[in-house]
Amino acid sequence: MQEKTIYDLLLWTVFISSILIFVVLFFIRAPYGRHYRQGWGLETSARLGWMVMESPAVLVMAYVFVIGDRTTHLASVVFFLIWMSHYIQRTFIYPMLMKGGKKNFPILLIIFALTFNSINAYLNGRYLFYFSAPYTTAWLTGPRFLLGVALFAVGFVINVHSDSILRNLRQEDENGYSIPEGGLFRYVSNPNYFGEMLEWIGWAVLTWSLPGLAFAVFTIANLLPRAWANHRWYQKEFSSYPEDRKILIPFIF
Ligand code: NDP
Repeated sequence: MQEKTIYDLLLWTVFISSILIFVVLFFIRAPYGRHYRQGWGLETSARLGWMVMESPAVLVMAYVFVIGDRTTHLASVVFFLIWMSHYIQRTFIYPMLMKGGKKNFPILLIIFALTFNSINAYLNGRYLFYFSAPYTTAWLTGPRFLLGVALFAVGFVINVHSDSILRNLRQEDENGYSIPEGGLFRYVSNPNYFGEMLEWIGWAVLTWSLPGLAFAVFTIANLLPRAWANHRWYQKEFSSYPEDRKILIPFIF
């Protein structure tokens, strides 16, 4: 089979699986973090789990960048750096900083995420650095790129800031939960997910690509049901939980 045929199959698999996981995740919460429960087979530490499952997003993207024929194209280099700014943070910095990182994490979930991250990095990188018509340098001053990069940057700041608020709720090696305050937590229960979604919507806009759109759709399908479950969990666990706090999008939802 030709590579392009396999590529297209994988791309449509991401779109279709997004619909499936969106539905399934409303009924089955992924068993990690506050929704962790036993019975999902072998486990490892959460810290190691995050590093392993996110690493293909760095490694595969770096590989397809190098084997593509656009390593000297400015637009390609900029796309590469934007992607890496997120994934170096997520793969290496976030897990090293996380508190309660000795908590267990099912290896089955790591395999799922590792598989998705490999496919996703391949789809995005291979498109940008090989299959697409080359993006010109002028693309970097066009409206789609500028709007997308602004969304990505705002999302990145919200995501990292919100995760740092959560981290500071705990002492080293502590595993408990409390009500987060400050930042966008004033308005929503899951600002880190809101930031993550903004980032990948921004990525879809700034690359104006189907694989970018597929990733944004997948991220929303994955995180929206969990945001809803997290919100309900807070309301159940804490009788003093702020009533006016929304689930995900300030003032709206
Ligand atoms: P959570 O918000 O559930 O947890 C983030 C960290 O904060 C965890 O270490 C968690 O500990 C801790 N924490 C959460 N709530 C509290 C609290 N109330 N009190 C004290 N500590 C708390 O996020 P996820 O673990 O689901 O995701 C982590 C990051 O990965 C996020 O930035 C998210 O956007 C991103 N992500 C992206 C996905 C995508 O599809 N692109 C998919 C999944 C995550 P513990 O683990 O012990 O609960």
